[in-house]
Amino acid sequence: MSSAAQSGGKKASSLLVVGSVGLDTVETRVGKRAEVLGGAASYFSVAASFLAPVRLTAVVGTDFPEEHTKLLESHHVDLAGLERVPGKTFRWSGVYAPDFSTRTTLDTQLNVFQDFQPKLPAAWTSSEYVFLANIDPVLQLSVLEQAQTAKFVACDTMNFWIGGPKRPDLLKLLQRVDMLLLNDEEARQLSGEANLPAAARAIRKMGPSSVVIKRGDAGALLFHEGGVFAAPAFPIEDVVDPTGAGDSFGGGFMGWLAHEGDTSPETIRTAMIMGSVVASFSVEDFSLDRFKRLDLGQIRERFQAFADLVHFEKIKL
Ligand code: AMP
Repeated sequence: MSSAAQSGGKKASSLLVVGSVGLDTVETRVGKRAEVLGGAASYFSVAASFLAPVRLTAVVGTDFPEEHTKLLESHHVDLAGLERVPGKTFRWSGVYAPDFSTRTTLDTQLNVFQDFQPKLPAAWTSSEYVFLANIDPVLQLSVLEQAQTAKFVACDTMNFWIGGPKRPDLLKLLQRVDMLLLNDEEARQLSGEANLPAAARAIRKMGPSSVVIKRGDAGALLFHEGGVFAAPAFPIEDVVDPTGAGDSFGGGFMGWLAHEGDTSPETIRTAMIMGSVVASFSVEDFSLDRFKRLDLGQIRERFQAFADLVHFEKIKL
């Protein structure tokens, strides 16, 4: 893989992520995979690695296969913050409806995440871009407390944390992040508002100045001080497994901000498209398999196809 850190001749800013790394068992209409590499931070790290070097903070058990660590390393993901402790790795399993419209979680086992106390390597506490991928908000907060000088902090979450006993911790966390990414169902659950712009408005009052609402194959909406921006999902005919699409979106998004070292409204719009581009690859195979045969050339090509997809002329009427 070409070095993301240097692409375009300039050095990317530092990008730190904390979140789940685990083993997923997934069934879609295309097939079933058991105990494959999954976890929000895994998808995020590899997705972002095409654009910027990533620092990963997470925990796995002694049963975590070496081949997965090797995959992360082959994408230059810095694993100095990945602890390996006695016990079982995080596990999740889910099944998708044949039309991919819904996903049912069959099982979630936090395992080694239950007692995890993240401790950032000293050099990482000054990371400029921080992504708190989906995991216990208490762990997200603890990482944030250690990375106080971050230039831009985004976080993701899910129904498991929004509706459960950790909700107060999540609300505390939201007061301190710049951006929240979540799907439409979660936005409604968090805000109590059925209408998405109303939900985004309510969530922005909870702390984050920007909210990205991910809507699966309907794309993503950004609500921020600059108004609203919509990015469609790239139309993919052969979806194999949508697991991790949201995390891959986050990786493409934050990877682009770190690549540019900028959070202006224009760069954030491009990041929305880059997130959609990278996520569109992720769904083309199970687990992180599509990323294994992805390169910057393909990303560039699909970004261009995306520009053509949404291009239209202004009219004088
Ligand atoms: P997404 O499809 O973007 O929602 O992300 C799916 C990934 O999130 C899977 O690879 C799971 O391992 C991971 N995941 C599922 N439930 C949880 C949870 N409660 N906490 C952290 N990660 C989770």
